[in-house]
Amino acid sequence: MTFKATVLTLYPEMFPGHLGVSLAGRALERGQWAIEAVQIRDFANDKHRSVDDTPAGGGAGMVLKPDVLASAIDSIADDNRPRLLMSPRGKPLSQKRVREIAAGDGVVIVCGRFEGVDQRVIEARNLEEVSIGDYILSGGEPAALTLLDAVVRIIPGVMGNDLSGLHESFEGGLLEHPHYTRPPVFEGREIPAVLTSGNHAAIEKWRNEQALKLTRERRPDLLPDSQKGEK
Ligand code: SAH
Repeated sequence: MTFKATVLTLYPEMFPGHLGVSLAGRALERGQWAIEAVQIRDFANDKHRSVDDTPAGGGAGMVLKPDVLASAIDSIADDNRPRLLMSPRGKPLSQKRVREIAAGDGVVIVCGRFEGVDQRVIEARNLEEVSIGDYILSGGEPAALTLLDAVVRIIPGVMGNDLSGLHESFEGGLLEHPHYTRPPVFEGREIPAVLTSGNHAAIEKWRNEQALKLTRERRPDLLPDSQKGEK
């Protein structure tokens, strides 16, 4: 079955966005995945087509109405795709969750706007809240595009060279080693000699050491205690 993303948004024109170019775009053209953007406003139920209202309890901004959003969600066939809500209060997105989503039939993604969405629709439709980081975007759309970018690139057949996904940062629990390419000398800086030695075992060893060193320096939180080493 082709992986299908359905995005609920007030700005359907933001999709497929950057996913319409390069590897993801070519895979989309080849039918290796599909995307559909649903306009939440089409499910408004008053003559002004309103989708938001003032927050109960007062305060700044507006809140997406639960009834309108629920109707939009209910218009989508109830299949086994996970239903996400992009939200800064959600569980931080991880490569593990990305891999799980990519292994499934697709995903339904709700993009919030304004101050967010009414809590009751999150509960009533059992939405999984997902965050892409500890900062506030103006809407869920760039977060949805980010999540889909990470997912689509690992759908089988999408990346030209399937092997290139194997050694990436996080896939092995570590940050990736540094990369080099020609020219051999750039502004007086040389490529580490081991990389041009042709000794594959030594190269592999060097890369593993560099990955561990970088992870210790930058992201010790990724390491099991036994590998944290001395600071
Ligand atoms: N008032 C909210 C922020 C609303 S931002 C709060 O303080 O928690 C508007 C919308 O942008 C959100 O509903 C969500 O869909 C999206 N958004 C903002 N930051 C995000 C993030 N870090 N990750 C995922 N979605 C985010």
